[in-house]
Amino acid sequence: MKFSEVTGQKELKNRFIRMIRENRLPHALMLAGPPGYGGLPLAVALAQYISCNNRGEEDSCGTCPSCLKYKKLIHPDLHFVFPVNKGKKLDVKEPVSDDAIPLWRELFLEEPYFTLNRWYEQLGFENQQGIITTAESGKILRKLSLKTYESEYKVMIIWYPEKMNQQAANKILKILEEPPEGTVFILVAENPESMLTTVTSRTQIFVLPPVDHESLKNTIAARYALPGKELEEVIRLARGDMYRAMETVRLKEENQERLRQFISLMRLSFKCNEKMPELLSWVDEISALGREKQKEFLVYGLRMIRENLFLGMMADKKQELVFMNKEEENFSHKFSAFIHAGNIEAITREFNEAIRHIEANAYARIVFLDLSLKLSELIYREN
Ligand SMILES: [Zn+2]
Repeated sequence: MKFSEVTGQKELKNRFIRMIRENRLPHALMLAGPPGYGGLPLAVALAQYISCNNRGEEDSCGTCPSCLKYKKLIHPDLHFVFPVNKGKKLDVKEPVSDDAIPLWRELFLEEPYFTLNRWYEQLGFENQQGIITTAESGKILRKLSLKTYESEYKVMIIWYPEKMNQQAANKILKILEEPPEGTVFILVAENPESMLTTVTSRTQIFVLPPVDHESLKNTIAARYALPGKELEEVIRLARGDMYRAMETVRLKEENQERLRQFISLMRLSFKCNEKMPELLSWVDEISALGREKQKEFLVYGLRMIRENLFLGMMADKKQELVFMNKEEENFSHKFSAFIHAGNIEAITREFNEAIRHIEANAYARIVFLDLSLKLSELIYREN
């Protein structure tokens, strides 16, 4: 990863480059801030720059043998430590970071801006937490006692050092204070305040500011085709957090998709008799989604039904009680006439029933076919 691929953070990049040029980069430094500000990508870009065989004034070259290995995160002198635990996709007793490195690389190379929860999802966690154990500290000591393989420098990136327990932290205090020649520790933390001062006091802390408006806007605009007004809205809500900006766009897209599916369901239910083939292919489409997505669709449907009831009850159609976006409103303008006191209870019951069945792993095609047939009857019920 090159500095140029890290969104914003120009000042810190320049500071690091200057320190390297003047040979005064600290041997243990900490980048602190929310993950969406880019601590981890910045750490990797810095490590790549340190190891580059052909360093430029402002960035690593991206093409030397070292950079090529960095690009895939497989440089033998680049080491990662991050919170792990036994999980669905990590079926190892007392795992350490190395056991999860393929999963780590996969996630980072797909999208280097991610949160702790996103990482836990990658590990297949349901209600677990990751930790950095003493076994991990032992591994750090062993790795750093070896000579470097290819580079002048060995870089150890520790992501979420907050997750180190006290014994694990104590075990690396000495090496953090006096690392072997040519070793750089980069700790990437969210809340240094929650860490043992014995650790933080041994590092030089660099606090990440939010990503500046322009850089964030340019990156998001290059990735997603958003109309100007929507783009501005996303950037405003993200408040300098790259991860939050991407999440907002993703949710927006998902919401649009769900609305499309909801409109299809309702239109087909209205004309169930003549539209049976289309209804069946709708059922196929929704049944092909994962269980979580199916459930999300049903929860969304419930919300739309409820909003339409409110909308229908308001004679003047003023929208104060209704929380819908423009597209949802456009559809609901006519549709709301069909949701009323005479059928709201039964429709709500059917959606809830479907949610319960999906959660209980029932056969999705039957659940959705059943729901649409019930709807086609309820939608015509008189008020
Ligand atoms: Zn290079």
